[in-house]
Amino acid sequence: MKVHEYQAKELFVERGLAVPRGEVATTPNEAESIAKKLGGTVVVKAQVHVGGRGKAGGVKFAKNPAEAKAKAAAILGMDIKGLTVEKVLVTEAVDIADEYYLGLIMDRASQGPMFIVSAAGGMDIEQVAATEPEKIHTLAIDPRYGARPYQLRALAYKVTDDPAVVKGMTKALAVLYDVFMKSDASLIEINPFVRTTDGACWSVDAKLNIDDNALYRQPRIAEMRDLSSEDPSEVEAKEAGLSFVKLDGNVGCLVNGAGLAMATMDLVQYFGGMPANFLDIGGSSNPEKVVSAMRIILRDPQVKAILFNIFGGITRCDDVAAGLLKATEQLKVTVPIVVRLTGTNEKEARAMLEGSQLVPATTMDEAVQKALELAEEGAS
Ligand code: GDP
Ligand code: MN
Repeated sequence: MKVHEYQAKELFVERGLAVPRGEVATTPNEAESIAKKLGGTVVVKAQVHVGGRGKAGGVKFAKNPAEAKAKAAAILGMDIKGLTVEKVLVTEAVDIADEYYLGLIMDRASQGPMFIVSAAGGMDIEQVAATEPEKIHTLAIDPRYGARPYQLRALAYKVTDDPAVVKGMTKALAVLYDVFMKSDASLIEINPFVRTTDGACWSVDAKLNIDDNALYRQPRIAEMRDLSSEDPSEVEAKEAGLSFVKLDGNVGCLVNGAGLAMATMDLVQYFGGMPANFLDIGGSSNPEKVVSAMRIILRDPQVKAILFNIFGGITRCDDVAAGLLKATEQLKVTVPIVVRLTGTNEKEARAMLEGSQLVPATTMDEAVQKALELAEEGAS
């Protein structure tokens, strides 16, 4: 789950971090009165769950309340990478001298939290990593001991030798660690963390992603969830109890079991294709789940073929076949569907599917290759 900038900043402010004052507005008039209250130049910032809002036109400066109103009117309702802006944060503008990147992720290799800092702040950290990797410094933390101040100070000295910035940055890094651990985060970022022309430190942006599996014990964070700014397909999938991740390819994949789903995606890529999604219908054989899964996949206009890969263990192939037939009856299926069903009750399942529009396959290789051929035909 992603937390908005203004929400993450609340967590920072509570811990004593310097964040420019600001409030959220949903209308241009509200933005105007917030700007009046703040006084001086403000920044109007789209609150959507995507990076690079600045570049996309979602961060604008306003010298006075009237301008803040106009900028808010321009940003509210704007489409940024497929998401509609419904809220803006109106915040005091600061005079930036230097920008730094401060981040903390859950690192697989060291199996714990890892800080990432850079003097190349304000830009995409992925971009910095690709073109100037020497500008990135990392520090793995042993969660048994936590992030100790001397470690954080040493890390800060890698990106600046200004003692005042080191002091402010050390504090910010400690706050990042505290929020990260207490909210079961997978990622937290301040980009940019800035030094102003008068030598003060400010956290100008905030990003916080939470591990969904921990939401049950994070009631306050769960409250912050904003379904309107999440991908509608992923929301629907969650409601239906499906694990779904949208991807960019044209082969829709519908698989039971996360491991088989990943193997299927690997195979699609191995044969030169690109999966349109990851979708695990889980171990149950509830036909309703198959219908929901199909509906979600069919909603994606990029999908040119669907690959159904089911290994029947606890899942019964005949139940899945029933779901499939129900789905093709209920939904307008406009793309070919390749079906590979193997395991418990596979004979019964095959008999049920005979004479339908579904394309049968026996092995995984065969199924994937057929799906790719059909997707290519559909695309041309
Ligand atoms: P992002 O594009 O989604 O990462 O949004 P940010 O909040 O990071 O804003 C983008 C950029 O706008 C920052 O990297 C800064 O360069 C600039 N910016 C944001 N707030 C301020 C501010 O108060 N003063 C100045 N001078 N620049 C700002
Ligand atoms: Mn940013």
